[in-house]
Amino acid sequence: MVRPNPTREQVLDWLQAVKDPEIPTVSVVDLGVISEVETGPDGVRVEMIPTFSGCHALGFMQIHVEECLRAQGLEQVEVKVNRNKPWSSDYLTEAGRRGLRAHGLALPPRHADGPDEPAECPKCGSTRTQLLSPFGPTLCRAIHQCGDCLETFEQFKPV
Ligand SMILES: [Zn+2]
Repeated sequence: MVRPNPTREQVLDWLQAVKDPEIPTVSVVDLGVISEVETGPDGVRVEMIPTFSGCHALGFMQIHVEECLRAQGLEQVEVKVNRNKPWSSDYLTEAGRRGLRAHGLALPPRHADGPDEPAECPKCGSTRTQLLSPFGPTLCRAIHQCGDCLETFEQFKPV
């Protein structure tokens, strides 16, 4: 029996099940790291781009993307990482931004809003915040403190 080739939309829909291992509320699709999907009679080819160079989560995501597609019965699956294409935090989808917030992370400002927008406190919503350290527990995160409620919080860094 020959299965019809999945469409690009179908593949992206399946990949909604693959989450960022560090931020389980955000899928690889909503994180914007799936840069290309090609489907054809030979199978599916997916290209991923790293969010932050050296972000070790990408290796896990690459494996999970491949496992996810094989679980759909696809035999020919190729998942490649293209380190030459820059990722931008603007690639986060609306669902991705909601997922970051649900995980308690402050959102990266959109580039259109200017790079120096202050981080918004996820607890009280104040933008009277201060960068404490550009190096959080992972490369993707910076640590800020709120000047109003004094909460220290992590921001998903803008890139
Ligand atoms: Zn606050």
